Amino acid sequence: MATKQLHVAMLASPGVGHLLPILLLSHRLATHHNLRVTVLAVTATATIPQYLSQLITSFTTHLSVIQIPAADISAVAPRNANSWAVAEELGIPKYVFVTGNAWFTALFTYSPVLDKQVVGQYVDQKEPLEIPGCRPVRPDEIFDAMLNRDDENYDVYLNLAVGVTLADGMLINTWEDLEPQTLNALRTNEILRSVVKYKPVYTVGPVNKRYEPDALKGEVVEWLDKQPERSVIYVSFGSEGTISAEQINELAWGLELSRQRFVWVVRPPTGHVPDGSFFKAGQSDATCDYLPEGFLTRTQKVGLVVSSWAPQVEILNHTSVAGFLTHCGWNSTLESVTNGVPMIAWPLYAEQKMNAAMLTEELKVAVRPEVLPTKKVVGREDVARMVMDLVEGEEVKVMKINVDMLKKGAEKAIRENGSSYISVCKFIEDCWSQIQ
Ligand code: UDP
Repeated sequence: MATKQLHVAMLASPGVGHLLPILLLSHRLATHHNLRVTVLAVTATATIPQYLSQLITSFTTHLSVIQIPAADISAVAPRNANSWAVAEELGIPKYVFVTGNAWFTALFTYSPVLDKQVVGQYVDQKEPLEIPGCRPVRPDEIFDAMLNRDDENYDVYLNLAVGVTLADGMLINTWEDLEPQTLNALRTNEILRSVVKYKPVYTVGPVNKRYEPDALKGEVVEWLDKQPERSVIYVSFGSEGTISAEQINELAWGLELSRQRFVWVVRPPTGHVPDGSFFKAGQSDATCDYLPEGFLTRTQKVGLVVSSWAPQVEILNHTSVAGFLTHCGWNSTLESVTNGVPMIAWPLYAEQKMNAAMLTEELKVAVRPEVLPTKKVVGREDVARMVMDLVEGEEVKVMKINVDMLKKGAEKAIRENGSSYISVCKFIEDCWSQIQ
């Protein structure tokens, strides 16, 4: 008799930051645990960017990936939407994979409680928001969906938060040693568990890219090959992050003033209307009007400006890279950590302000600007200081030791019989026990 194979259907919401870890976890389930996996990738637009299709293609040897257009759910009242309807109708176990960390998971799932406790907007609170057993969240670091409680997206968010705890369990893109206190609270804190009815929590991380598809490598890596060891700062704001024209200007001046080498993935500024003039790497200053005049010419010996998309993991993995100025998306954060690269934390949106706080205050693997980039423009002197410090400063030596320790912990967690490996095995076992 043929042995039965568990078939997992993974539904990925739009956005590279969601789809990527879903593809990676699926790949791990298929190749290390012999599961059959189908990824249902909801795409926000009819045509997806080329890098995304290249990324998807690179996974299709072991997985089935089906792209489905986003459904119009505008007729469903946000507070009543049941995202589990299909699984319930078919009687299949249902799990959530949180692509962020455990601290964010705690805030997210505790939000319906905060909604009842807190009067007024969260951002106007004088004291940090308390989550039992977990590190408190400062009002100006909360998740974007909580910024305006009058917005209907806030209702969607609360409904999702309730939905998550109705699942049969949660898989989180973290590992035991990275967030022991928060994971312990999610599993054992009596106050927290009495109000949020948590199901089993499985730590499966780090689930992150280890290499880029060949099609995405190219000139950046060739350029890095020619630079001295640990001399380059990589600057990128994720798959969607944009900054204002004024901030681009200050960042450019800061990089130039620092006199350090850099690779910068530049996107048109927030609100920029594409007019076809956006430059390609190697083009002259004249074609890029939102960088300071003459910037590309003056920095051409030390800097590489890349348009829109770079092979991030190949860069972080390169011996010439000394640091990463990052928007602190959780995938980028994990990629930096697993390559032992200290960071400048420059959060923009989603839960990135929490990630930045964790990286700077708790894990001590990053420095951050004097002002919160979501509130004020970070000035060129501040940029230059941070960049210089990240390459040559004293503080970076400690940050490097810390990040290397996290890197080792991460490698240990996903190794066979490491904590995340065991957690995935337990998840599979629990799935079987529910369907037999
Ligand atoms: N990424 C990349 N090249 C880029 C920009 C982004 O490869 O030029 C990848 C990056 O490696 C990461 C993902 O896109 O895996 C972005 O996810 P993250 O959670 O960091 O941020 P988001 O884009 O969701 O804000």
